[in-house]
Amino acid sequence: MPTEAIRSIAAKALEEKRVDLVIGFTPGATTLITQPAFIEESSAAGKLIWNDFCVSNLAKHLLRRDKKIGIIANGCTSRNIVVYIVESQIRREDIYIIGVPCQGMLDRHKIKALSGKKKIKDIRTESDRVTLSGDAFTKEYPRREILRQSCLYCRHKNPVIYDILVGEPVGRSAERRGDEDKETADQDIEVLEAQSAEERLEYFRTLFDRCKLCYACRNACPVCYCPTCFTDRTDPKWFDKPPASGDAFTFHLLRAMHSAGRCTDCGACESACPVGIPITKLTRKLNKDIRTLYNFEAGLSIETPSPLSVYDLEDPQDFILTEELKKKAKTSAS
Ligand code: SF4
Ligand code: SF4
Ligand code: SF4
Repeated sequence: MPTEAIRSIAAKALEEKRVDLVIGFTPGATTLITQPAFIEESSAAGKLIWNDFCVSNLAKHLLRRDKKIGIIANGCTSRNIVVYIVESQIRREDIYIIGVPCQGMLDRHKIKALSGKKKIKDIRTESDRVTLSGDAFTKEYPRREILRQSCLYCRHKNPVIYDILVGEPVGRSAERRGDEDKETADQDIEVLEAQSAEERLEYFRTLFDRCKLCYACRNACPVCYCPTCFTDRTDPKWFDKPPASGDAFTFHLLRAMHSAGRCTDCGACESACPVGIPITKLTRKLNKDIRTLYNFEAGLSIETPSPLSVYDLEDPQDFILTEELKKKAKTSAS
């Protein structure tokens, strides 16, 4: 784990006044959790860590700060930094990106399901095996078995943009494994696509029946950054608590639509869910559609905006145009 290198780079960047703040990870309340750390003094850089549970997407913390910021970024976080640059939410020159090639993060819900009520005190990773141990128990698992869904099929493990890279990029074999998995990554989505509309509706209604409308997923998601989310509006009031299942279903549909063409499948929403709902089933379907229809994946280039955020005069839907622009579009098409 590149913890030592991250600490030393962060301390140096603060000492040299290259940045005013470094955003990274520090241990959380249990072995299976980390939390964001905001380091302003080089002497505090020792609090930073990097481990198998750095699941928050730190890009979210870049917004609305008037500072030069250093940030620890793996593949998906770097892609959300790109999304922010494309959406003019941050300026590239204000961000110092400490890139970390990523081996994928472990899924605490899967681990809890496997270990039952036993308290896990230590986790050790060796190559592709993970050993969990606690009071009077030790159990070993293949790493793939307890990876998060988003990490299992991730094709962009290396930061797509950075100022300094910690360690070596993830090797060819791991990347190739990602490509092979691409064929299987969408299998569960294809099963849903093959169902009737009624079956899909039933599937997603049941999926979101467990939702408590706590909004932890929204709060964790880097592309959910509206100053006032529609869920918090009281006029009109969108949702009641405790939630009727229809309310939760509506919330997830609207949120997924807002993230279409911007979601990087970082899985932070799913990791944040206290009841372990596989939320990314919905967003991965939209990601698949955007990939298929527009040959686009969010956050890979600061030059390319999301296809859903641009309009071309040759686009077939002209409802958005003034009469004058409609005429212009017709002329340029003829
Ligand atoms: S989605 Fe990719 S980059 Fe992000 S944590 Fe998982 S493996 Fe790493
Ligand atoms: S919707 Fe989920 S997977 Fe997509 S960017 Fe937001 S947190 Fe990441
Ligand atoms: S985090 Fe889970 S329970 Fe909370 S709103 Fe999102 S899906 Fe529902």
